[in-house]
Amino acid sequence: MIDKALAEISEDIFRCYRCGDCREMWRYITGTYGSCPVREELRHEHYCGRGRTAVARAILENKLSYDESVADLAYSDLCCWHCTEVCTLLEGYKIRVPLITRLFREDLVKLGLGPPEALKRLASNVRKSGNRFGQMTQRRAWCSGINISPKAEVLLFVGCNASYIYTDIAKAAAATLKKAGVDFTLLSDEHCCGVTQIWDGQKQIAEELANHNVRAISDAGANVVVTTCAECYHTIKFDYPELTGDKLGFEVLHISEFLSDLIEKSKIKFREFRKKVVYHDPCQLGRGSNIYEQPRKILSAIPGVEMLEMKRNRANSWCCGSGAGQVVRLANPQLAMNIAKDRLQEANNTQAQTLVTSCPFCLTLLSAAKRSMDKVDIELSDLITFVSQTLE
Ligand code: SF4
Ligand code: SF4
Repeated sequence: MIDKALAEISEDIFRCYRCGDCREMWRYITGTYGSCPVREELRHEHYCGRGRTAVARAILENKLSYDESVADLAYSDLCCWHCTEVCTLLEGYKIRVPLITRLFREDLVKLGLGPPEALKRLASNVRKSGNRFGQMTQRRAWCSGINISPKAEVLLFVGCNASYIYTDIAKAAAATLKKAGVDFTLLSDEHCCGVTQIWDGQKQIAEELANHNVRAISDAGANVVVTTCAECYHTIKFDYPELTGDKLGFEVLHISEFLSDLIEKSKIKFREFRKKVVYHDPCQLGRGSNIYEQPRKILSAIPGVEMLEMKRNRANSWCCGSGAGQVVRLANPQLAMNIAKDRLQEANNTQAQTLVTSCPFCLTLLSAAKRSMDKVDIELSDLITFVSQTLE
C-alpha cells in the first residue's frame, strides 16, 4: 500500500457529475465536434475526461487497484486540457483531468508500474547529461561566434530542443533579441526544464531539475526569463513554484509575449513577406497558459502575411498528439501519430502555405506525420524562426 498522491485532487475527482461534455460535444457556432482526441481515436469511454475521473474515483474508493491496464490508461492521456476547457461543472469549477493524470502517474511510479521504458530512458539521459537527448556535447555550442552578455536583466532559457535539435530556433531567438536591442544572457549551466518527468510521474527528478535551474537563474541575476518553447514556459512559470516550494524571484514570459511588447514599442520592424499562414496553438501555451493572441498578433504584424485559421483554434484547438512533456509520443507512438495526422490534415485543408507553432514537440510530431502522409505539402515552422526571416 502507498499513500495515494491521487488523494490530493479528490475534490475534482468526486465533484465530476458525469455530464459527458468532456466525452463529446457539438459546437454549433464553429461547426466542430469532439472534446477528447484520445477518445475520438480509441472510442472507449474510459479514455475521455469523465472516464478517467471515474477510474480515479474507483481507485480512491478501493474498488479498483493500480495495475498494468490502469497504467496503460494513464500513459495514453495527452493532458491537453480540452476536457477541462469544456467542463461544465456548476459554480465555475472545472475538473482538472491533466492534474488527476499527473498524480495517477506519480502513484504508478511509486508502485513500479510506470513510467514506460522510453520515458525511463529519457529520465536516465537527463540525469546523466542534463538534457533529454543524453548529448554529452556543449549545450551552448549553437551560440559559438555570437556575443552573449555574461549578465543581463533578460535571460533566454533555451531548452533542450533548441539547444541540440532545433538550433535554428535558438539562433533565431538570439538574432531577434539582438536586432531589437535587447541585452540578454544565457545560463552557463542550463539543465532540461524537467517537463517530461513532471508529467510522467517522476516528480523527484523534476524537483532536482527545477531547483538547479532556479538557483542558476538567481545566480545569473536575471529578472525576466524568456522561453521560446511552450512546454519550458508552462513548466517554469506554473510548476517550478510547487516543485521548489517557493515563489519565483523572476518573471517568466513566452517569447510571443515579449515580442508583442517590442512590436508595440516599435522596436521590431518587418519587411514584406508574402505567405498564407495558419497557427497551431500548443496545448500548454494555449489552454494551459491562456496565450492565444500574442503569436497571432506577431504574425499579423508582418506585411504580406495572410492569417488563416483552422476550425478548431484557440481554446478549441486540437492537440497535435504529443501530449504534455511528449509523454504520449514516447509511451504510445501510434496513438500520437494518428492524432497528429488528423491535425496536420486540418491545417493543410486551410490552404495555408505554412503551419506555424511555438512548441518543438508539436513541430517534431507534425513533421513526422507529414513524412508519412501523401498530398500534404504545408511547410512547418516554429514561430521565432518564421519571424526572424521577416525582420528588416
Ligand atoms: S486532457 Fe485531453 S486527452 Fe486527456 S482526457 Fe482530457 S481531452 Fe482527453
Ligand atoms: S465535463 Fe466536467 S463534470 Fe462533466 S463529465 Fe466531464 S469532467 Fe465531469
